[in-house]
Amino acid sequence: MANFNTHLNVAFMVSGTLSLTVYKAGLVDDSGFLMCAALGTIGGLLPDLDSDNSTPIKLGFNLISFVFAFGLVMHWRGELSLLALMVLWLAGYGFMRYVVFYVFTTMTVHRGVIHSVPYMAILGLALTYLSHDILHLPLTVSWFYGLFLFGGAMVHLALDELYSVNLSNMKMKRSSGTAMKFYQHKDKWWYLLLYVILALLLYIAPPFDTFWQQVSDPAAWAKLKLGLWPELIKGWLS
Ligand SMILES: [Zn+2]
Repeated sequence: MANFNTHLNVAFMVSGTLSLTVYKAGLVDDSGFLMCAALGTIGGLLPDLDSDNSTPIKLGFNLISFVFAFGLVMHWRGELSLLALMVLWLAGYGFMRYVVFYVFTTMTVHRGVIHSVPYMAILGLALTYLSHDILHLPLTVSWFYGLFLFGGAMVHLALDELYSVNLSNMKMKRSSGTAMKFYQHKDKWWYLLLYVILALLLYIAPPFDTFWQQVSDPAAWAKLKLGLWPELIKGWLS
């Protein structure tokens, strides 16, 4: 298993790079970019939240709550008054820090279930649904939010997998193949429940093909190509 700092750093690097990419392609705006980077980083920490209640996790969650609240304020900075923004900041921070953290650390579901692909897919889809159908954010950004959260979590599971394979070169190959988990027989009823919820969420999720059309639009990637190189190199290339 990779440790907290590794998870934090890798998740931040991966989601930072990817959110910058979609930002440069013009698919998300400033606040969307910040939110995507934050959500990807949060996703990279989520799978271990129930198992590890140690200080770094708490510190990390403090930071995440702060970034999350900041993202909220950035998103509504145009529409809301200063006072409303300050309330939003506090409420967003409190919600992440106390409600979400509490739910994740006290849930009786044990590690085997949270530390899995379907559980994280549920969280990602739920976020997309919440963002689009409840908060009425645009479709593209809603899907990006869900995908970044899910993607961050997949980075986490892949890292754990990588570390367990690494260790097994020296030790017994005990933990290998358990990180990237889709199903485990001893938790069959939990997994049944997870897949039922997942199917339900897939059914009510906002249309993915519309999102995909937007993302695969060549114009966005032409824009990215334009923003990829510094002016000097662009001169040489053309
Ligand atoms: Zn883990």
